Amino acid sequence: MTAHEAGRLLREREVTSRQLTEAVLARIREVEGRVKAYVSVTEDIALRQADAADARIARGEVAPLTGVPVCVKDVICTKGIRTTCGSRMLENFVPPYDAFVTRRLLDAGAVIVGKANMDEFAMGSSTENSAFFPTHNPWDLERVPGGSSGGSAAAAAAGECSVALGSDTGGSIRQPGAFCGVVGLKPTYGRVSRFGLVAFASSLDQIGPLTRDVEDAAITLNCIGGYDACDSTSANVEMPDFTHFLQRDLRGMRIGIPREYLPDEMDASVRQSFEEAVTVMQSLGATVDRDVSLPTTPYALAVYYIIAPSEAMANLARYDGVKYGFSYQEGESMWDNMERTRQYGFGDEVKRRIMLGTFALSAGYYDAYYLKAQKVRTLIRREFDAAFAKYDALVTPVTPTPAFRIGEKVDDPYAMYLSDIFTLPVNIAGIPGISVPAGFSDGLPVGVQVLAKPFDEGSLFRVAYAYEQATAWHNAHPPL
Ligand code: GLN
Repeated sequence: MTAHEAGRLLREREVTSRQLTEAVLARIREVEGRVKAYVSVTEDIALRQADAADARIARGEVAPLTGVPVCVKDVICTKGIRTTCGSRMLENFVPPYDAFVTRRLLDAGAVIVGKANMDEFAMGSSTENSAFFPTHNPWDLERVPGGSSGGSAAAAAAGECSVALGSDTGGSIRQPGAFCGVVGLKPTYGRVSRFGLVAFASSLDQIGPLTRDVEDAAITLNCIGGYDACDSTSANVEMPDFTHFLQRDLRGMRIGIPREYLPDEMDASVRQSFEEAVTVMQSLGATVDRDVSLPTTPYALAVYYIIAPSEAMANLARYDGVKYGFSYQEGESMWDNMERTRQYGFGDEVKRRIMLGTFALSAGYYDAYYLKAQKVRTLIRREFDAAFAKYDALVTPVTPTPAFRIGEKVDDPYAMYLSDIFTLPVNIAGIPGISVPAGFSDGLPVGVQVLAKPFDEGSLFRVAYAYEQATAWHNAHPPL
């Protein structure tokens, strides 16, 4: 059940939160052996929270997410609940505090049913980099759910929660959203507090919802968005009620389609779904312009794989076996212990990123790589600014192909990196982006991405909702 359907039934006293929560826990027991979306299922905590939510509803204190079962990506701190980041390094880490978004969910009376599997430290596009196990795509269990928020996307798609939270540094909400046939929103950088989000690349990371429809994404952003003094990059800007943007037509909306996002190499069925989506948007009253170019786009992948690893290597320096998590103790010296802690605690992809970042920041290479990447980042941002002076929204595919097979790309990091080619520029520019279900390719979901200027998530919701309501893709559920 979506959060808005659940919310209505809870308010009308048609169901209790306990019933909803028990149903979700039963669903988890039924499908989790095949999907493996969760690192931890917090059954006892969830039932206690559900009873508290029912008591609250009885008192008439109802918020839109009160009593609704939610799933939280395991990179977001939950006080007293293990938060692993998909890593051996934090396998037994129990945070002593809640992330800002966790607090917001709990204050709203939401019920946390578990912590979702992910690529280690959010580095990856398939959830195969989890130190524990891969998650399976509910639409085809032999395929990846995308990543790094693959557990959150799979849980939302498989009915193992109503709403899930993910994080997106280069596409980690939108790409798994597209692969699993759910809505994925990356808010504007600064819209949602990163306090308590374990840092990967601090200038790119942003938390957002994975939901079964656009209305739920708006409800969830209403809950988790807004200023937080504990995050120095949190923006103190107006938080509109995002449900006001859920309208059924696109009259007056100017949509641009950047040509760099439709390369010849793209999968033909993804292109076809994209073209059909554009036609629907046109029929809803939007004007569509295809004469749009963002010429620096081809450099985005290189820029991302310099900036993100550079920030990651600094952020991951804290895992030294002293302050957090795994600690190797059998070595000959303190240095030996520290080295082995990192040798055994981190997986291969994390080590690759640490090496890339260390290289890009080292003397002699800093100017050639890091500084140059920052300059190109500015160019990318300016190109988007110029485009948004003319268009209310840009529309692009989310990924060049539908979900790939488990094992298909693990040994080829570059092929894996390419699956985020249409999502990375959005984080580089700090703008908001949403992925919405837009059809199927041989039974696998395909998504369409909508982009808008900073803090204009309203336009994203408007385009995404009108499109969704004019199509039936969001009503399809995986066979499982
Ligand atoms: N797949 C990209 C990476 O591996 C993006 C990950 C993310 O958004 N967290 O870095």
